[in-house]
Amino acid sequence: MPQPLSFVHPTPHSPWGTYLAQVDRVVPYLGHLARWAETLKRPKRALIVDIPIEMDDGRIEHFEGYRVQHNMSRGPGKGGVRYHPDVTLEEVMALSAWMSIKNAAVNLPYGGAKGGVRVDPKQLTHKELERMTRRYTSEIGLIIGPQQDIPAPDVNTNPQIMAWMMDTYSMNVGATATGVVTGKPIHLGGSLGRVKATGRGVFVTGREAARRLGLDLNGARVAVQGFGNVGSSAAELFAQAGGRIVAAQDHTGTIVNDKGLDIADLTAHVKATGGVGGFRGGEAADGESFWDVACDILVPAALEGQITAARAQRLKARIVLEGANGPTLPDADDILAERGVLVVPDVICNAGGVTVSYFEWVQDFSSFFWTEDEINVRLEKIMIGALKRIWDTADRHQITLRTATFAVACERILMAREERGLYP
Ligand code: GLU
Repeated sequence: MPQPLSFVHPTPHSPWGTYLAQVDRVVPYLGHLARWAETLKRPKRALIVDIPIEMDDGRIEHFEGYRVQHNMSRGPGKGGVRYHPDVTLEEVMALSAWMSIKNAAVNLPYGGAKGGVRVDPKQLTHKELERMTRRYTSEIGLIIGPQQDIPAPDVNTNPQIMAWMMDTYSMNVGATATGVVTGKPIHLGGSLGRVKATGRGVFVTGREAARRLGLDLNGARVAVQGFGNVGSSAAELFAQAGGRIVAAQDHTGTIVNDKGLDIADLTAHVKATGGVGGFRGGEAADGESFWDVACDILVPAALEGQITAARAQRLKARIVLEGANGPTLPDADDILAERGVLVVPDVICNAGGVTVSYFEWVQDFSSFFWTEDEINVRLEKIMIGALKRIWDTADRHQITLRTATFAVACERILMAREERGLYP
């Protein structure tokens, strides 16, 4: 008999289980706030919605959607929406919790939330995708809003989908509400620099980590898993800094080239064909061999649970930059720490996206828009400041950057919880 879903009893090897293990590791560093730690192990609220839509051929199909608000002690919920055939409530719970940690780690005035629909969007036509997005938005309209919870893009969602979400919410409330989602197209209240912000943040934290380790980015070998928005933007910036992208992998294939892949060509190939598979600027390789590639920097920028204990034993990188959310399992984390591989964890490494989402939300409220330069300068300042504080915490307690990020973030979240007090 499968166990009924419970907030505190995760399915084995699930992202929620990974998150709970990460929380357990930080509790000894929370001092008197440890009293509130259980708060972090339970999402505040989880909504499951049915999304019926009429398909182009007249059939009615149902999809299952979720919006989870993990913690709102520091402000409204914030986090993306994912469309993927493997989405589950438990996965969205974990992703929402990582948003709480991430937003607090960079000190944005937000709690954490996340949404998802179990669907393969590639199987839908443009019109079906629009209908599904609009119905999903209407259904979660009960709990989202510019001051309540602000969705954004994540895996398989993009500015067009954000435009439909903004329009649907606005129609339902009877006024244009640009601040209800971020990651919108520029002319609909979107922000310059948002699309590449997550990849930029990965690069900025990677550059900082490399500097501290004495690794020169010029000539550094970089392997990237996932060549979507995050992986491709990060690869481009590493290549610009003189790095060699020696391997790229996604669900369509694995391509290696020790001299370095041409990122502009590869990006054009991915745009045209939907993936890195079949790219002629390198050699096709077996998927599992990606983890043996000789590299200095490894950027997992795809899905959760990719760095298992077995892969952690093998991988050659000195630095792992978590562009994806939750790519490393807890036992793999221990192995990497023992092997002296530096992991810059998701909850700081990929925080560039939500940081520019915050800028977008602020710009929407003031209806005054900044230049791309202003955005990139402010993004770097926030990321570098946050990383420094995390690094100091790691040095002080002799803990990993992940536990240090959790320590900084959980202290902020639980301090807010304590100051606000329990209602009623
Ligand atoms: N989906 C992104 C993340 O995982 C961005 C969320 C946002 O901008 O709200 O951080």
